[in-house]
Amino acid sequence: MPGDRSEPPLRRLPGSLMLVLLPIAAVQVIAATAPAIPSPAPGPPSPSLRFDSARAEGNAPHEPFHIYGNTYYVGVGGLSSILITSSGGDILIDGDLPESVPNIVANIRALGFRVGDIKLILNSHDHFDHAGGIAALQRMSGARVAASKLSAQVLEQGHSGPDDPQYGSAPPIAPVRGVQTVHDGETLHVGSLAITARFTAGHTPGGTSWTWKSCEQELCVDIVYADSLTPVSADGFLFSNNKGYPGAVDDFRKSFATLSALPCDILLTPHPGVSDMWPRLERATHGAGPSAWVDTTACRRYAQTASENLGKRLASEAGK
Ligand SMILES: [Zn+2]
Repeated sequence: MPGDRSEPPLRRLPGSLMLVLLPIAAVQVIAATAPAIPSPAPGPPSPSLRFDSARAEGNAPHEPFHIYGNTYYVGVGGLSSILITSSGGDILIDGDLPESVPNIVANIRALGFRVGDIKLILNSHDHFDHAGGIAALQRMSGARVAASKLSAQVLEQGHSGPDDPQYGSAPPIAPVRGVQTVHDGETLHVGSLAITARFTAGHTPGGTSWTWKSCEQELCVDIVYADSLTPVSADGFLFSNNKGYPGAVDDFRKSFATLSALPCDILLTPHPGVSDMWPRLERATHGAGPSAWVDTTACRRYAQTASENLGKRLASEAGK
């Protein structure tokens, strides 16, 4: 479908809303000397959103905001949706819950961008709270959707199979049509934008993190949208011994290594609280500027915490 014609005329924001531009070295020094940021802690698990009250709370509207360069937050209060813009078209990562779509659309418009300019929609993983809104956003924008082969199957079917640790308990999603498959390490392009898929399976078999560069004038940073790494499952699923997903533990460990090794100046996550989104936004808007977003240790700490949580989960499965 063509772009939404009811939208207001195109109004591009200036490249940056930040008042201060610092050289990267200064940003890193400030980040290193800033008050200690608590370790990113994977969770809360998405299953909590199966309950109506938690789901409504997760979907609470949130004002959109600028993160860095051409990267913006357009999600809701408990679920991230990230817009990356260029004069040749935009990229949107994650569509959140089906009922999040009006909020995401309103946020995109409030920033002065147009849903019809989204040319590519990507997904962290295919659970209903991150992929539930993608079909509607695809229809509204006419964007292509791309995902790992395993995620693409789930997105097109509208439900996962027994290889999903949450199979049987995660709600279905609206099926997405014509999903393009991407390889691990593949870079996709929209206009001047380049975004690379890094497979980070474990939470789901097709889970994918995405990484790109955003620049403010000549200062470029590596941004990582790291997928959920929580070992959350339906009742009875054992990560340590499961016929539906026998490689789950190996996949998790590979994902921890992948995220730990990525160039990573700014970590973003599908559940914004997991990567301290709100304290960072508070600091960014109260004087710290871009340095509030930068923490070159965040991806490694995120992976480390996730690894510890997997260890606890496997210990709890011992003897079962
Ligand atoms: Zn999930």
